[in-house]
Amino acid sequence: MKGVSKAYGEIEAVKKINLQIAAGEFLTFLGPSGCGKTTALRMLAGFETPTMGTVFIDGEDMSDKAAHHRPVNMVFQSYALFPHLTVGQNIAYGLKQQRPKLARSLINEKVGRALETVRLADFKNRRIWEMSGGQQQRVALARAIVNEPKLLLLDEPLAALDRKLRKEMQIELQDLQRQLGITFVLVTHDQEEALSLSDRVCVMRAGEIVQIGTPRDLYDNPQSRYVADFVGTSNFFEGDITAIHDVKVQINLQDGQAYEATLGDDLAVGTRACLSIRPEQIRLSKMEIPGALKVTVQNQIFLGEHTEYLVRHDKLGNIAVLSPRQADADADTLNKGDAAWVQWATEAALVLSNI
Ligand code: ADP
Ligand code: MG
Repeated sequence: MKGVSKAYGEIEAVKKINLQIAAGEFLTFLGPSGCGKTTALRMLAGFETPTMGTVFIDGEDMSDKAAHHRPVNMVFQSYALFPHLTVGQNIAYGLKQQRPKLARSLINEKVGRALETVRLADFKNRRIWEMSGGQQQRVALARAIVNEPKLLLLDEPLAALDRKLRKEMQIELQDLQRQLGITFVLVTHDQEEALSLSDRVCVMRAGEIVQIGTPRDLYDNPQSRYVADFVGTSNFFEGDITAIHDVKVQINLQDGQAYEATLGDDLAVGTRACLSIRPEQIRLSKMEIPGALKVTVQNQIFLGEHTEYLVRHDKLGNIAVLSPRQADADADTLNKGDAAWVQWATEAALVLSNI
């Protein structure tokens, strides 16, 4: 996508997206509802025309190519299956429209292979309304891969499934992509789904890409508060940058104290920024530690392997802490109202853009 924008009247749904997706890659557009994910996907599919910019597929300019002439298929959130047709007929539907006509034996062979790929070989003659939600999703997938597209677009394909089924289908989707080697572009607002499936995630905000990276990279090196918040959870403290030496930075927080931290984005001294610390990077102690912050325990939730604490600092406010079981022996006996101390490593405290 080269400088691709889409405006609907006053609304700029997508703003100048520049993005190169590699062949065979599993890429995800992640962002809240209304940030332009579907619009971006529909421009790849050819269902929408960019107001500006160009979509290329396999090096070829797609500007004059209608959707049905692109080597692309799309799976919709609603599946868009024909309820009165059988599973086999649904999958064969697109193949039967092709001109020149395909031989019936070839269509049968392709349908059979697609059904096997999604593990529905025995369901060819069932009606759609006889299939469960997860099975219907697999039919929709089979229909989308049956004519071997170069690019498969998936718009929140698992959103209608319950949590357990969604987990299973996530694994199947990933297997399917590896098996077929097709480029997948997925749209989701579910960060867990994005992180677990994708080679790279493209985090979107108000029509723009704010950061692209591998799931690990986005989690460990977010550049903005927005990304740190959307990919995982974090504690945020606003402040002013007072000094920068290489990646070491000093930030003044609301308590009037200067904190040593690590620069996460390209920011200058004097900038209003945000200190971000992941809950699992904070150590909570019942004993006073010199240099640590004194807090009061507000709440604790036992989660088995971990315990989640909410503690409160006089001036900085609430701080979430996630303690693994083995590190928790000392904190185990902390109760609401108790005094405690929190600390973190400078490397785990990132100074980010405050967007
Ligand atoms: P997402 O898929 O991330 O939820 P969309 O791409 O559907 O977001 O929408 C992005 C923005 O464009 C929203 O503000 C939406 O209301 C607007 N939009 C999408 N499609 C149309 C359309 N056909 N006409 C007018 N506005 C649209
Ligand atoms: Mg959408």
